[in-house]
Amino acid sequence: MKNEIVLVTGASRGIGASTALLLGSRGYFVCVNYHENAELAQNVVDKIVADGGRAVPLRADIRKEKYIVSLFKRIDKDYGIVTALVNNAGDNGGLLDCEEISVDILKSVFALNVFGVFTCIKEAVKRMKKIRRGSIVNISSESAIFGGNRLTHYAASKAAINAATKGFARELAPFNIRVNAVSPGIIDTDAHKDISQKRRQMLKHSLPMGRMGKPEEVAKTIAWLLSDDASYVSGSIISVSGAR
Ligand code: NAP
Repeated sequence: MKNEIVLVTGASRGIGASTALLLGSRGYFVCVNYHENAELAQNVVDKIVADGGRAVPLRADIRKEKYIVSLFKRIDKDYGIVTALVNNAGDNGGLLDCEEISVDILKSVFALNVFGVFTCIKEAVKRMKKIRRGSIVNISSESAIFGGNRLTHYAASKAAINAATKGFARELAPFNIRVNAVSPGIIDTDAHKDISQKRRQMLKHSLPMGRMGKPEEVAKTIAWLLSDDASYVSGSIISVSGAR
């Protein structure tokens, strides 16, 4: 493999951690971004290294432009140019009825899910254009299409990501930069840890495969989209939703 440096945002847990582990095993140098869980991020790095790979934990709050800018500068200085980016860090803001969705909540959810993603793309693209190659995968959500259940604030943020994926893919194609999205259904991560047993059972019965997806099942699609095996795939939004 060429010298590929991938930044995976929100890689301490869930889909991000599984993606970091898989990419580490496939020869990428993995920048394991996290926000609060330094120990979990270090565990991900330790597993990659134990498996013969290369990785580093990097703290940055993806809601803040200045931390994203510093994160990219640090990667430039210590490791080299990011050739692949997985915009995974995301937050659903909790289940809310229409009247409960304040502008502050919208700002907080959009700060991470939309503004953070645009800023990471901007910083990555500045660098990828210089080397005239790169691959970006945004993590969207099936809720972007159906609106979510009491998650309309979150669904709207992911709809913005679908639009960004299509728009940037067209704009950046002449620079040999591909932009795609993976759109997960319900995946068994901490995002669902606070739901009641009753709601969990109801969810399970509503899922065509009778189970939630596993983070590793999403990671495999992300890794494929990043790779040269997907060299003519750009502007695609791929569902990983078990037929839901
Ligand atoms: P998760 O298990 O809740 O993990 C969230 C990750 O994001 C953690 O690594 C966390 O870091 C990081 N993070 C949170 N706030 C951050 C911030 N301000 N700056 C940087 N990193 C931050 O999440 P997940 O369920 O794997 O979801 C990953 C992505 O898939 C999200 O974009 C989510 O919207 C999307 N998705 C998930 C599902 C699902 O059912 N799980 C479905 C559709 C789409 P710390 O550990 O350091 O806090």
